Amino acid sequence: MTTTSKHPLRIADIAVPGPFAGPLSYRVEADQAPVPGSRCLVPLRSRQVVGVVTGVRPAGTDDSDTLKSIIQVLDEQPLLSPDVLQLARWVSRYYLYDAHPAYMLAFPATLRAGEAAELNDEPRLELTVAGEHLDPYQLKGQRQREALAELQSLHKSSLACTPALLRARGVERAHWKGLIDKRLLKQRTAELKPATPEGALRQEALTLNSDQAAALKALPTEGFSVQLLEGVTGSGKTEVYLQAMQRTLARRKRVLVLVPEIGLTPQTLDRFQQRFQDSLVALHSGMTDKQRNNAWLRARAGEASIILGTRSAVLTPIPDLGLIVVDEEHDASYKQQDTLRYHARDLAIYRARLLNIPVVLGSATPSLESLHNARQGRYLHQILQQRASGQHRARLETIDMRQQKHEHGVSERLLHRVREHLNGGNQVLLFLNRRGYAPSWFCRQCGWMSDCPFCDARLTYHRGRHQMLCHHCGHQERPQPQCPDCGSTDLTPLGAGTERAEEALTAWFPDTPIIRFDRDSVANARDLEQQLARAHADGPAILVGTQMLAKGHHFERVTLVGIIDMDAGLFSADFRARERMGQLLVQVSGRSGRGERAGEVVLQTYHPDHPFFTPLLMQDYPTFATQLLAERQRSGLPPYGFLACLRSDSAYPQRAEQLLKEMATRLLAEAGIRVFGPLPALLSRRAGKHRFTLLVQSDHRSRLHSALQPLVADYPRQQRHLTWHLDIDPIDLM
Ligand code: ADP
Ligand code: ZN
Ligand code: ZN
Repeated sequence: MTTTSKHPLRIADIAVPGPFAGPLSYRVEADQAPVPGSRCLVPLRSRQVVGVVTGVRPAGTDDSDTLKSIIQVLDEQPLLSPDVLQLARWVSRYYLYDAHPAYMLAFPATLRAGEAAELNDEPRLELTVAGEHLDPYQLKGQRQREALAELQSLHKSSLACTPALLRARGVERAHWKGLIDKRLLKQRTAELKPATPEGALRQEALTLNSDQAAALKALPTEGFSVQLLEGVTGSGKTEVYLQAMQRTLARRKRVLVLVPEIGLTPQTLDRFQQRFQDSLVALHSGMTDKQRNNAWLRARAGEASIILGTRSAVLTPIPDLGLIVVDEEHDASYKQQDTLRYHARDLAIYRARLLNIPVVLGSATPSLESLHNARQGRYLHQILQQRASGQHRARLETIDMRQQKHEHGVSERLLHRVREHLNGGNQVLLFLNRRGYAPSWFCRQCGWMSDCPFCDARLTYHRGRHQMLCHHCGHQERPQPQCPDCGSTDLTPLGAGTERAEEALTAWFPDTPIIRFDRDSVANARDLEQQLARAHADGPAILVGTQMLAKGHHFERVTLVGIIDMDAGLFSADFRARERMGQLLVQVSGRSGRGERAGEVVLQTYHPDHPFFTPLLMQDYPTFATQLLAERQRSGLPPYGFLACLRSDSAYPQRAEQLLKEMATRLLAEAGIRVFGPLPALLSRRAGKHRFTLLVQSDHRSRLHSALQPLVADYPRQQRHLTWHLDIDPIDLM
C-alpha cells in the first residue's frame, strides 16, 4: 500500500449534467476509490449532482490545481461495464449530444437519481430456529402470540413471507417487530445471486423447417456478425431466435432481446419464459421505477440469463453477453424522438461489434437501411419463405372507392365481406390509422374546418368526451355549435377515425363484440392485455384500430383484414412515409389467416392504380423495397447518403428561420455537404411555436459529422425565445 503522504494526486473524469460534450475533471481524495462505471456525487456550480466516472488517472500537467473534489463515491463497484461505458461514449459522439445523458440512458430512474444500487424489494421475514419451535402461548402479548402462530403456519407451508403478506393476513408491523427483539424472527433483504446460463429447456424446441434450419446454421455462434432474418409474420423467426438463444445460453453466455415499445406484452414474455429454465428479466416503460431498478440490478449482476427489453434496454450492463436479437428491427419505436435521438438497433450493432458477438435483426418488412446492407453483403441475409405452420399467404385485393357508396368511411363492398366472414364464425380486423371520431369538424355551408389555435393542424373530434382535441399539442376545446365564418349551424364531423368506425360497426352489427385498439382505448399494458384476451375469446368479433393492431400480435381467428384508409402516405412530403406505409400494409396483412383458415386482405383506396401499390398487392415486399431503394439512390437519400435534420422553433418565426439560415451558410462552406431549406416544418406551427427544418445531406458520414460538430459547439440548444436541436439519421421529418 502506498502511504497517503506520498499519494500522487489522482483525477477522475466524470460525466456531469450540462452542455458538456465530454466528462469534467475532479480531484480524488486519498480515501476515495472511484472506478470507471461508478457514480459519484460532485459539486457543479452551486449544486451537487450525480455523475458517472468514465476514467481515473494520475494528475497531468494540464490539470488545474484548483479542481474541485468528489463529494462522495456512491458505488464501490462499477455499475456500468466497460462495453456500456464505451457504448455511451459513442452515443454521445455519434449523435453529437451532451455526454451525461448518454451515460444516464444506461441507468434506471432510481440510480439516475442517486439512490443506492440495491434491490428495493420488501425484506423477507424468516423465523429463527428458536422462533420455529417456540410455543406461541409462551409469549405474553396476545398480538405477538397471533403473529408468531401466523408466521409458523406460513413457515410450514414454505411461503416466502414479507410484511405485505402478513399485513394481508391482518398482522401489522407493530405485532411482529417485538419478535425480532426476542430473536425469534430475522429480517433479510433479498440478495443478488449470479447464476450461470444453462440453456436447459422447459419445453421442447420445434423441429425447424428447412428455411429456419438454414438461417440458424448460417448464424455464427461467436465473433461479430449481423444477420438480417427476413420473413413474413408467422414464418417462424421467433423460433429461430429461441434456438439461437439456446445455443448461446448453453455456451454459458447471456442474451439480450430487444422488442418494439408495444411488443412487450405478457404474451411475448410467456413465450420466452416457457422455453427456458434460465431466468429472464423484462425492462420496459410499463414497469414502475422500483420494478425497473430490480430488473436492472438482476441483469447487471448476472442473475438473469435473458434480458428482454424495449429501446433503452440496449444499454443494460450484462456480464458475458453472447447474443443480441432485435425483433421487428424496422420499428420506429427504436428511435428516440426527443432529447438524445438515438436508434436502439444501431446501438445494438455497435455493441455487438464492441463485444465481438453476433446480432440478429428480424423483420417481415426490414428497414431499407438493413435491407441495403444485407443486399450489399455487409450483413448475412436469410429469408424464411414459408409460413412455419404451413398456411397460405393472405390474398390481397383493392376496393376502388371512386366506384363505391360508403358510409362512415366503410364501403358497401367491404361491409358485405365483413358480414360474410362474421357469418362464417370468423373474426375481422379493420385497420384505420387515425384515432378519435373524425379528423375534423366541418361547416357544410362554407367549408370551414376547425383548426388548432396553436398548431398548423386540424382538431380531431372525440365523440366519447364531446371534445375537439389537437393530436400535436394536446389542446382541447368544445366543438363549435356555430360556424365562426358564416354563422351556419349546419356543422358535422368529417372523415372517420377509430371511434367513429366503432360506433358505426356497433350499429351495423349489434350482436358482435367490437374491440377497439388505439391510444384512447388502450392506455397501458393491462388494457392491451384485456383487449387481446377479448380478441382471443371464441366466436365472431370485429377488431378495429390503429397501427397498434399491426404489431406482432397473433390473431388466430381473423380471416379478413380490411384496410379502411391508407391513401395519406402516398403523397406525403416525408420521404419515409411511403416506406412506413408499405411496412404497415404488409404488417397488417400478416395479421390474418394465422390459424388453419386462409386469410383475405381488402384495401380501400381512391388510387387503386398507383404503382406504389402494385408490388404490395402481390405481397411482394422485396420488390417494393427495391423500387424505393432505386428512388433513394437517385436522390442521395439514406441508405445511399447520410442525413441530419436541424429543427428550430420559436414564438417568432423569423428567429427560428434566421438561425437555420445562418447554419445553412456555414454548412455550405464545407466540402461535400448539401442542404435543403430552411423550410417551414411539415407541421409548421405546434403548440404556438413556429418550426423550421434544415435537412443536411452528405455522401460521407464523416463529412456530415465534422460539418455539424462546430454548430453544436457554437450554438446553445436553448436560447432566449428559441430552441433548436439536431437529429442524426432522422426517421421522422415532421
Ligand atoms: P414469427 O416470429 O416469424 O412471426 P413465429 O416464430 O411466431 O413466427 O411462428 C409462428 C407460429 O408457427 C407459432 O405458432 C410457432 O409456434 C409456429 N412455428 C414456428 N416454427 C415452427 C416449426 N418449425 N414447426 C412448427 N410450428 C412452428
Ligand atoms: Zn361556415
Ligand atoms: Zn395543437
